[in-house]
Amino acid sequence: MEVIYRSTRNANETATASQAILKGLANEGGLFVPDTIPSLDVSIEALADMNYQEIAYEVLKLMLTDFSEEELKYCINSAYDKKFDTPVIAPLVNKAGANYLELFHGSTIAFKDMALSILPYLLTTSAKKNGVENEIVILTATSGDTGKAALAGFADVPGTKIIVFYPKNGVSPIQEKQMVTQKGDNTFVVGITGNFDDAQTGVKKMFSDTELAAYMNEKGYQFSSANSINIGRLVPQIVYYVYAYSRLVANGSIKAGDKINVVVPTGNFGNILAAYYAKEMGLPIAKFICASNDNKVLYDFFKTGTYDRNREFILTTSPSMDILISSNLERLIYKIAGNDAQKNAELMRKLSSEGVYTITDEMKAKLDEFYGGYATEDETAQTINRIYNSDGYIMDTHTAVAATVYDKYVNETGDKTPTVIASTASPYKFTRSVMNAIDKAYDAKTDFELVDELNRLSGVSVPQAIEDIRSAAVLHDTVCDKEDMLKVVKEFLKI
Ligand SMILES: *Cc1c(COP(=O)(O)O)cnc(C)c1O
Repeated sequence: MEVIYRSTRNANETATASQAILKGLANEGGLFVPDTIPSLDVSIEALADMNYQEIAYEVLKLMLTDFSEEELKYCINSAYDKKFDTPVIAPLVNKAGANYLELFHGSTIAFKDMALSILPYLLTTSAKKNGVENEIVILTATSGDTGKAALAGFADVPGTKIIVFYPKNGVSPIQEKQMVTQKGDNTFVVGITGNFDDAQTGVKKMFSDTELAAYMNEKGYQFSSANSINIGRLVPQIVYYVYAYSRLVANGSIKAGDKINVVVPTGNFGNILAAYYAKEMGLPIAKFICASNDNKVLYDFFKTGTYDRNREFILTTSPSMDILISSNLERLIYKIAGNDAQKNAELMRKLSSEGVYTITDEMKAKLDEFYGGYATEDETAQTINRIYNSDGYIMDTHTAVAATVYDKYVNETGDKTPTVIASTASPYKFTRSVMNAIDKAYDAKTDFELVDELNRLSGVSVPQAIEDIRSAAVLHDTVCDKEDMLKVVKEFLKI
């Protein structure tokens, strides 16, 4: 059965999977959503016998129906290879009463690699299938991790250029170093004087500028997106939830059909939405526990039904979740509005003009599978410290937000359902915050002294991604005002 993708803001705009991947964003700022979500057509028992790549094929073949088997297998096998430092791709580690799904074993040591290592293959295959001759310009806003993962994926890919905007003062030192040392003639990294929301808004504006699109086309270019608004990001993220469930069955923790809960440290709402889609495909998930940091706009939303971005933007030690406009929530809003593009567009107009909207009681009633929680900075640090001391397991700050919220959830509800916590980054990516949580005295050390100390405490070898930047030269030093994003894009493309 062919899956058609439709805009959340205009019921008449449809696309095939490959067209939606190429386009990134629908017209008028809408997002592409699948009209129907097919059920998995293999048994859980069969999945338990498959490896990551085989499970990826089972999921992707149902969602990306205009790709051939050969095309999908080429994309999957090119993505999930030796770039990952473990053959299982996403290990499931049982510690401190939960199952941590480690999604950070790819080349840039954050979960963004799970999707961004395959997106370049999906995108170039889509371009070929649709006879696209323009060069594709990947325009990306990043809160720190998407940027590097997208750069690594697209560097030197023929027929593409990639431009990344990051908040100059809003990412970790290691995140920044990873991005500004990126090689590749087709890469361009720009710091902006603003926060992630400013970067994302600027990028979305360029996407919806039809005059700009026509001008680009004249010059032989077209934009696409590597952000999680692209369904080519979301669909590969469904895979690891299916994989995690099948490992729990394989290792005897649960029986096929038993329900699990998932906890996801959330920013742009992409990762947790992928878990929701996994349930729609038939995976037995009871609760989606949405974990926020001090930027707890989603916690407030699930509690009250009002989404309100009119608040102070707080810089935290989990910078990849410092977000007040969670783009992918729109896909859920569209769904609970009864797949009503007009109703959704109305709410999104309110969000952009007033910064706030409220859903109806009828819509709110459809959200009871979701539980929103948040962790303060102190609580997050205490969790890192506590689990290091109890289990010798050192987690990054984002994962610690999730672990904290999970604890709160269990204390509040007594729900002991087996649980998978999405572990979204290596502690090596946020070394300073992680080591400070273990002992404040570490703050006096340099970043790379801390790396070696983390290695000593955890016994986990230093990832290649960190070794690579120890002595790498800075290759990108452009900084611009948030108003000047279009100007620097034009300069880079020489148009
Ligand atoms: C991007 C990111 C998140 C948030 O994921 P969303 O899909 O935006 O909700 C959480 N943790 C880390 C480490 C990330 O890089």
